[in-house]
Amino acid sequence: MQAAIAKFVNSLPLSCSQCITKFYFRSLAARQRGLHSLQQHIEYKAMDVKILPALQDNYMYLIVDKATKEAAIVDPVEPRTVLQAVEAHGVKLTKVLTTHHHWDHAGGNEDLLKLHPGLEVYGGDDRIGALTTKVEHNTRFNIGQLNVQCLFTPCHTTGHICYFVTTPCEENESAVFTGDTLFLGGCGRFFEGTAEQMHKALIDILSNLPDETKVFCGHEYSLQNLKFAAHVEPDNDDVKKKIQWSKGQRAEKKPTVPSTILEEKLYNPFMRVSEPSVMKHVNKSDAIATMKAIRQEKDSFKG
Ligand SMILES: [Zn+2]
Repeated sequence: MQAAIAKFVNSLPLSCSQCITKFYFRSLAARQRGLHSLQQHIEYKAMDVKILPALQDNYMYLIVDKATKEAAIVDPVEPRTVLQAVEAHGVKLTKVLTTHHHWDHAGGNEDLLKLHPGLEVYGGDDRIGALTTKVEHNTRFNIGQLNVQCLFTPCHTTGHICYFVTTPCEENESAVFTGDTLFLGGCGRFFEGTAEQMHKALIDILSNLPDETKVFCGHEYSLQNLKFAAHVEPDNDDVKKKIQWSKGQRAEKKPTVPSTILEEKLYNPFMRVSEPSVMKHVNKSDAIATMKAIRQEKDSFKG
């Protein structure tokens, strides 16, 4: 959605903006033939993450605890796809993890509950449909034997939550589900927050997760984001390499997710606002001013 229109729609009363965005995303999805990406499974020792593409460029994620077969779904905007995956993999769905209230993430909650009653619905915002458990920063719960830690990352919306998942095994397996806060190569628009808040979310919170943590974000925006990253840092070889790799993935309709926290620190300009090369691009000398300036530039970047 164009920046100005998106900002306007988000300023409308909730029921009105949800209705417009629902129509917008449904019409976009209807125009494209088939799914934007193939479903893919990421295997860990103790957990599986099933990547479920939805709408025009959204991702839903089915997180499975291998030991108990208990599962949770992140942002189930297309409930029927979710329930097909639950059945196909023979898992027991018990929880919904909602990153934020926007329709393309939370808009399927109520229908999912109708089809599959009794689920616990987690989220950090009262605007989330069918919410049963409001969480805060560092709220913890389990999916079977998997540990979930909620990370409060307001800015894209005031109630945005990222979910950091770790397993009980020794290999330090971890994953973070970042919704519209951190994307591969980029970050979400600042609809309801400030550059200071995004700096806190990306630099103080997400950058401090273990480097090997896999990053599962809310949209397939990687190539657009990396094009902007190359504009900000034309000499960054990690950006160039990731663009080549992502083009190969997209040519085969494969998702570019997940990346890792370490990778994001190498090529994502919004994770690199303290780097002299990024600061120099916008002629700033502090990280928060740099965050603000590159987000403003990205909002109207055509590439
Ligand atoms: Zn959003």
